[in-house]
Amino acid sequence: MALDDSRLGVRNKRGDWTPTSQREIAPFWAWPPQPLKVLQWIPGYLWPWNAFHLATALLWWFVVVPDLDTMKTLSWGWPAWLLAVNWVANLAWYGLFEWRLYRQRAQGNRFKYHRHFPADQPSDVFWFKSQPLDNFLRTFLVSIPLWTLVQVIFLWSFANGSATWLTWAEHPVYLTLLVLVSPAIHELHFYVIHRAMHGGWLYKWVHSIHHNSVNPTPWSSLSMHPVEAFLYHAVALWHLVIPSNPVVALFQLHMAGFGALNGHIGFEKMELPGGTKAMDSHAYTHYLHHKHFEVNFGGDGLIPLDHWLGTWHDGSKDGDRRMQERYERKLARMHPPT
Ligand SMILES: [Zn+2]
Ligand SMILES: [Zn+2]
Repeated sequence: MALDDSRLGVRNKRGDWTPTSQREIAPFWAWPPQPLKVLQWIPGYLWPWNAFHLATALLWWFVVVPDLDTMKTLSWGWPAWLLAVNWVANLAWYGLFEWRLYRQRAQGNRFKYHRHFPADQPSDVFWFKSQPLDNFLRTFLVSIPLWTLVQVIFLWSFANGSATWLTWAEHPVYLTLLVLVSPAIHELHFYVIHRAMHGGWLYKWVHSIHHNSVNPTPWSSLSMHPVEAFLYHAVALWHLVIPSNPVVALFQLHMAGFGALNGHIGFEKMELPGGTKAMDSHAYTHYLHHKHFEVNFGGDGLIPLDHWLGTWHDGSKDGDRRMQERYERKLARMHPPT
């Protein structure tokens, strides 16, 4: 029997579904402190998404990444191998979710935020008037090569000794802590580049490509202008600045590359085969960004910059009202009464 999405949200007359629960920033920012809530929050922080990114980082390090002697010298061979693996991995990862939710439409529109499936809505803003094809091609022709470029830069730097490489044997505590704060590094980096791209010509020429997908699907995740695609994946290059380890840099890279999926799933929950259990997608915060543009520039509120700077939308009616008031204040600043 299918899950009932009306228990967790409401569907309007047009057919858009909205969750009734509010998005919450990470509980360790609460005052007075709420230790019990923090303890309850930790498992969801680690499992399943960050654990998956760490597992793939280890898989790459032990199976995919060439030996250090090879990577000491830049050539075409080993970067081409990494690019080929990244293409195949992304085809499998994003393709799996896109195929199940948007091609097969395995759960219909249950838990789906937007009433339409983009494939049913041809539009001139996309290559070949098709959002899925446009997003797929931009991901494979632009973003994954630039993801690979970032990967090559840091692997080559570690291999030739120009980065500070700490070993797990000598620095297990520091490196474990670095793994645990890597999602915060991601959120800070993403917030800064994202906010910068929302102004003036950078928006017009660069970031608007990503925002063409008002109704994002998994293929939209990495559908970016080359400048954005490089800056986005360049988060891993922080591990050349701080003392680190190539596995942690790979974790950081995979969290950005594979983790972009979360914000662009378009469904609140993904039903597992059998249809009686479902996984949280964590997609609604970033879905609201695609819908309203001026809210939720960061992630889920691990480092709640949106909350502190007044652009947080928690998905509630109150969040809508605050956004509207901010918009009216902005209009009044731009067009003062004469
Ligand atoms: Zn944006
Ligand atoms: Zn997005």
